[in-house]
Amino acid sequence: MPRNCPHCDSKKISGSYFVRFGFFFRSSDSRYIQRYRCVSCRFTCSNATFNAWFRQKKRQKNHALRMRLAGAGSLRRAAKDLHLNRKTVARKLAALGFEAAFHLKKGNLEKPKARVIEFDDLETFEHTKCKPLSITLAVESKTRRILGIEVSTIAAKGLLVEKAKKYGRRPDGRSKARARLFRDLQEMVVEDVLIKSDSNPHYRKDVLKYFPKAKYRQYEGKRGSLGGQGELKKTKFDPLFSLNHTCAMFRANVNRLIRKTWCTTKRADRLYAHLMIYAHYHNQNLG
Ligand SMILES: [Zn+2]
Repeated sequence: MPRNCPHCDSKKISGSYFVRFGFFFRSSDSRYIQRYRCVSCRFTCSNATFNAWFRQKKRQKNHALRMRLAGAGSLRRAAKDLHLNRKTVARKLAALGFEAAFHLKKGNLEKPKARVIEFDDLETFEHTKCKPLSITLAVESKTRRILGIEVSTIAAKGLLVEKAKKYGRRPDGRSKARARLFRDLQEMVVEDVLIKSDSNPHYRKDVLKYFPKAKYRQYEGKRGSLGGQGELKKTKFDPLFSLNHTCAMFRANVNRLIRKTWCTTKRADRLYAHLMIYAHYHNQNLG
């Protein structure tokens, strides 16, 4: 029951200016929802008004959709199986992603601060391989808890440079994405955290800027390419195993990241939403 009226701002120190004002029946989960009315301005609202899922239709399908998206399901097949419209599923992806991002961050802030973390970039693309995207990812060592994810655009490389010209200039957003990720990570790690990454020359400057007291170690290593051997290397000992394992889990469980798939990302923001749904599921259930 709301305490203050959002319409006329009337307040009372104890109790409320609202009186009960009937019910309405919510068909999507077959529940009766209490309505209220403000006694001074006659504004009405209900228990649903201030809920995160206000005006969501088909809310009974949210959980099934969440499970599918975190378990290598495609949007189209989810729509078909759950008897939803494709557009409904696309909208729900955005909403569920938003919710998952909030819970992922909240969950991470409630956990004890990480002492050893690993980070790297994972590559994928939107629409065509000429428009690559980078996923910057940080995980806690050993537990493989996902601490943060950022998505950014990168320019095409190699043989695709010539072909990619028709799509115009594509800015490299990796450094800004790294800055966003590191700012978030500052609250989740101890001051003298041990940070591990591959030997990318751009990393050191950013790590020292955001974590001045951290110990930073870089490791030489073959990188997994888009169509290549994958994140899990056939080496004896992988110092970035937690990270590479998590990347492999993303590849296996986020449908649009599976190698050589028909299913591709069309929009970077929806990729982010999908990653958040998986990451939240990963931290809750797999860890
Ligand atoms: Zn009022």
